Amino acid sequence: MPRRKKGQERRIARERIDALFRLAEKEALKGNAARANRYVELGRKIGMRYNVRLPSEYKRRVCKACHAYLLPPKTARVRVGGSRIVTTCLACGTVMRFPYVREQKERRRQ
Ligand SMILES: [Zn+2]
Repeated sequence: MPRRKKGQERRIARERIDALFRLAEKEALKGNAARANRYVELGRKIGMRYNVRLPSEYKRRVCKACHAYLLPPKTARVRVGGSRIVTTCLACGTVMRFPYVREQKERRRQ
């Protein structure tokens, strides 16, 4: 079996995931939740296949239970509590908690 260029494959995989999540956001904004979820699914599949983790900004945009694309306030409810963000998926009701540190740092920089 020929040696595959793993590094290059993973870079391409990341670019594809990036493009798919941009498409997902676009469709979600237009109200096409089903199409947005399909793009998310494709992105996740690419990530799994090439062993590429979803960047954290994308991870918090996908429901951990039903993998729906989360677009507040349309498909998710977001509450900020103390040092974390609490996101509720409106499709299945799953509650996800994300640390709030990065956003605070970004705000300080502005
Ligand atoms: Zn869900």
